Amino acid sequence: MTADSSSSGRLERALASLRGLAVGDALGSQFFVPAHYPLLKRRELPEGPWQWTDDTEMASSVVAVLAAEHRIDQDALARSFAEHHDFDRGYGPAVNRLLRLVREGGDWRELAAGLFNGQGSWGNGAAMRIAPLGAWYADDPEQATHQAEISAYPTHQHREAVVGAMAVAAAAALAGSPDGPPSPESLLDGVIALVPKSAVGQGLRRARDMLDYGDAGTVAAVLGCGRRTTAHDTVPFALWSAARRLGDYEAAFWTTAGVGGDVDTTCAIVGGVLASGKAGAPPAEWVERVEALPEWVPTGP
Ligand SMILES: [Mg+2]
Repeated sequence: MTADSSSSGRLERALASLRGLAVGDALGSQFFVPAHYPLLKRRELPEGPWQWTDDTEMASSVVAVLAAEHRIDQDALARSFAEHHDFDRGYGPAVNRLLRLVREGGDWRELAAGLFNGQGSWGNGAAMRIAPLGAWYADDPEQATHQAEISAYPTHQHREAVVGAMAVAAAAALAGSPDGPPSPESLLDGVIALVPKSAVGQGLRRARDMLDYGDAGTVAAVLGCGRRTTAHDTVPFALWSAARRLGDYEAAFWTTAGVGGDVDTTCAIVGGVLASGKAGAPPAEWVERVEALPEWVPTGP
């Protein structure tokens, strides 16, 4: 069966993925609250509301642009990122500065290309926000990958950051299949086939080889879990973790968060990929504890 390709079907999937992303982001970021950390280590939930961070704010812009344009328009996306940029949501310093300059009239093309001595950012920011786009294009995983590539450039122009976004979108598109979640092997094989040669791609091949490892800590030590906040240090582990538990949001969350690293981002990626499919929706009790999505996110056609 092919996923529903109507605009309303696409928006419904993208919003479901965005909610899963927000829960992962918001609960993941609770690990950085010293009073909540011991609770979470025992897998107990802290009191809400849990605040989401930059991952959810940027993903909300991705969904808003898709709802309005039915594709990624880079200028509209850059404008939305800049307009809705809240300095207190935990953005990295380079993106904070970039979005401020765009808001003041700067050209994102020049600004994003100039980051890090002209190499562009290879941070995980383009990947952390993109799962809802994959959900939108669950009827066309190739298009998901293509639109994700375009979506990265307003902030992240290094090849690894771009491929990281392509990989997460491909995973969310494949996870959104109406036939139910694919097997761990077929999810990662499908993603690997859709992304170009890169360090992210290498990491995904290693992740594929490690699917039968029971110990997430060992896998995170090999693949990375976002401690360097680069795309290649973040995406392979996140997709390893998502692939193994596509129908079990709670298990996927605890495994992902348990290894540490850039927990709000790895959990945002995992949550967004899982919730692209119906079987991977977050528990209702968790959704209720997350602060509301921004009011400018469209909820219907
Ligand atoms: Mg964050």
